[in-house]
Amino acid sequence: MIYLDYQATTPVGPEVAAAMRPWIEEKFANPHSPSRWGREAAAAIEVARSRVEQAIGLAGGSFAFTSSATEALNWAIKGTFENNNRRKLVTVSTEHAAVLDTAEWLEGKGIEIVRLQVGSDGLVDLDLAEALIDDRTSMVSVMLVNNEIGVIQQVADLARMAHSVGALMLCDAVQGFGRLPIPDGPDLIAISGHKIHGPKGVGGLWMRAGAEPEPLLHGGGQEQGLRSGTLSPSLCVGLGEAAHLAAERREADAVHVQKLSELALATLGSGWIINGSTERRYRGNLNIRRENLDGARLISDMRNIAFSLGSACASGSGRPSHVLRAIGLSDRAARSSIRLGFGRYTGEEELASACRRINEAAHEQTRLTA
Ligand code: PLP
Repeated sequence: MIYLDYQATTPVGPEVAAAMRPWIEEKFANPHSPSRWGREAAAAIEVARSRVEQAIGLAGGSFAFTSSATEALNWAIKGTFENNNRRKLVTVSTEHAAVLDTAEWLEGKGIEIVRLQVGSDGLVDLDLAEALIDDRTSMVSVMLVNNEIGVIQQVADLARMAHSVGALMLCDAVQGFGRLPIPDGPDLIAISGHKIHGPKGVGGLWMRAGAEPEPLLHGGGQEQGLRSGTLSPSLCVGLGEAAHLAAERREADAVHVQKLSELALATLGSGWIINGSTERRYRGNLNIRRENLDGARLISDMRNIAFSLGSACASGSGRPSHVLRAIGLSDRAARSSIRLGFGRYTGEEELASACRRINEAAHEQTRLTA
């Protein structure tokens, strides 16, 4: 099996699994209990928290653990509108469902939602954004790296625009964290463990001091009174270890990923078109299309290679990806697109072999349908 679906999830790092093991097998104490065991677990969680904060690398804020980035994004958006009299959210049509569906829910409650369109490169037009971010705006929510097509939005510029009208900036950094430096600017940043070789079921929200949203989950108030629920020491320690490794290996990982991307493109050869900007993109995401290809059929034909259509969510629904539609692709062109995702644990040999097989199968399929 060759795994080329790094945007859906990443393999758990061996160091991460080792760090988590004692907290699953022996150390079962409740980290919020005052016993010695409880205090030991709480201390391990604090080490993990500071590792995540260091990897985020911004001053003047703190990190709260959540069950996922989906929870962090729901919390950031709903909790900010609870806090604020302004009634307008500016986001982008290519955001993840965790943002777009939350925005739609708020729209049903009377909040004005602006969904900025993107160009064929997948990027927000900054002049248009500036015209639409005004003093009625409470929040601007823009992702760092797009999960489907890998393009990198101009988060620092958009944060400046948000701040100039007194709005907060939320950044969904799930696909960028640990891979690129997080630009200074956002007041709220959502991340997820399983996209950085950490465990699933844990993520969190970094909050600039003073920008903390109202709680989404009420109860014991375990996370600074802002988020309730008993923390899982194993998941928090796993996320902390993954963040620490990602920060330590960021440059080496980036060099490896750049090499893999060049190798994949050279092996695939001509006839493939990259979806979205070829310059402002994270290189571990190759969303490509080929005329007349049936991407879904290709995926089911290639049983030993795991890759994706535009996104895991879009694949499940059978709907063409909203991101590929937003960059101007027809339904047909969107359906002829596939997403290859690779990273730290992908070998050059296996990637070249997978790309050769994908290319041959795609040639065969399009030759028969031509
Ligand atoms: N945002 C982006 C860009 C993602 O890729 C994902 C995961 O698919 C999420 C948010 C949601 O993350 P989680 O799986 O932690 O809820």
